[in-house]
Amino acid sequence: MNAYPPVLIAGAGPVGLAAALALADAGVAVHVLEAASGITEDLRASTFHPPTLDMLDAYGITPVLIAQGLVCPHWQVRMHPSGEHARFDLSVLSDLTAHPYRLQCEQYKLSRALLARLADYPHARVEFDAKLQAVTQDADGVNAEVRSADGTRTLRSAWLIGADGAHSVVRKALGITFDGESFPETTILATTDFPFEQHLAGLSNVTYCWQLGAGNFSLLKVPGRWRVSIYPDESGTVEDALKPEAIDAALQAIVQQPEPYRVFEVRPYRVHQRIASSYGAGRVWLAGDAAHLNSPAGGMGMNGGIHDAFNLAGKLVRVLRGESPGLLQLYERQRRPVALDQILKQAGANRARMRERDPAARLAALRKLQATAEQPEALREHLIRTSMIEGLRQSEALV
Ligand SMILES: Cc1cc2nc3c(=O)[nH]c(=O)nc-3n(C[C@H](O)[C@H](O)[C@H](O)COP(=O)(O)OP(=O)(O)OC[C@H]3O[C@@H](n4cnc5c(N)ncnc54)[C@H](O)[C@@H]3O)c2cc1C
Repeated sequence: MNAYPPVLIAGAGPVGLAAALALADAGVAVHVLEAASGITEDLRASTFHPPTLDMLDAYGITPVLIAQGLVCPHWQVRMHPSGEHARFDLSVLSDLTAHPYRLQCEQYKLSRALLARLADYPHARVEFDAKLQAVTQDADGVNAEVRSADGTRTLRSAWLIGADGAHSVVRKALGITFDGESFPETTILATTDFPFEQHLAGLSNVTYCWQLGAGNFSLLKVPGRWRVSIYPDESGTVEDALKPEAIDAALQAIVQQPEPYRVFEVRPYRVHQRIASSYGAGRVWLAGDAAHLNSPAGGMGMNGGIHDAFNLAGKLVRVLRGESPGLLQLYERQRRPVALDQILKQAGANRARMRERDPAARLAALRKLQATAEQPEALREHLIRTSMIEGLRQSEALV
């Protein structure tokens, strides 16, 4: 299949690189175009779900991530400061996955591992500082206008995957709308090496907390750091909430300590819930954040994007081997409903549950979660859904 011009992929994020690896491994030549000058290392995803680890394992990536991450057999929803919680133990999924846990590992480590693995394939090229500016397609192929240090050139290919993130040029070029909403609040993600686990008894490495008399926060551990999501009071300004003293006050409200917290990185971000009106057409298809955006609550955006990437790449390989291009419509039929019914819906529900302020409603929600966690069948069902296994089953059932 190397005889064809390379499949173009816009974006060397985790989704574009995962698609590139799946294609390259099947013998398909790929050319990834990335606007940035290297792998982006900002504070983004840290949670990997079991089926994603199973998929990446097929390419030897999972052991690389495990070596750089934290295996987390359980996660929890918790009242703070009482510590009362519902704990979800993923070992009940051990008959369904080779990885019955969440892995906490920074997203950029995945991108780096994918990039390193791609270097093993002479027919895979990743070009940094190469921005896709415009896309057109006709019956026989795709024209991609690319700007790099050498100037602007047009590449011709039979296929293009738009994995170019939330502001996707590819999606806009196809005239596809990105329907949904952007929420008003700004969330702040701060990292610290403070050992919360030594102060909060029974803490899981992934913990979502309601704070007594206040809003909520979450604590997600990665090697050597806790990532704390802070939800500032919406009556104040974001600028004020980002001031070092405000970040320290938010952390002191979790665990009071005599010294200021050591804070390494701070990232404010807005939460969106959007889905592309179509996942592509003809020779151009979207995957990952280019196709769907959701609240990070529950850690599903990148995972869902990787599931898109493997689904789309698998179908593209079959088309390149002679099956009808109509097969690509099945990609949209399988993956778009999952993004809507599972990823966006669950992420939205997680966000709404943790934003609840009424003490009685919080307690009722906690009791319900505890009852689920204590009943083996209910627990299994809950974890099959929240670990994204149900979404994959849903997509496989659609033909
Ligand atoms: C704070 C936070 C926490 C999160 N936590 C989780 C989590 O725990 N688990 C989870 O599953 N998800 C999580 N997410 C979501 C996750 O980060 C995204 O879903 C993921 O980055 C999507 O990957 P992508 O490759 O589709 O897009 P991106 O990571 O955005 O990559 C797109 C790439 O395309 C490049 N690009 C853009 N335009 C062009 C162009 N015109 N030409 C060439 N290149 C271009 C960009 O430079 C970028 O490298 C989180 C998000 C945030 C903000």
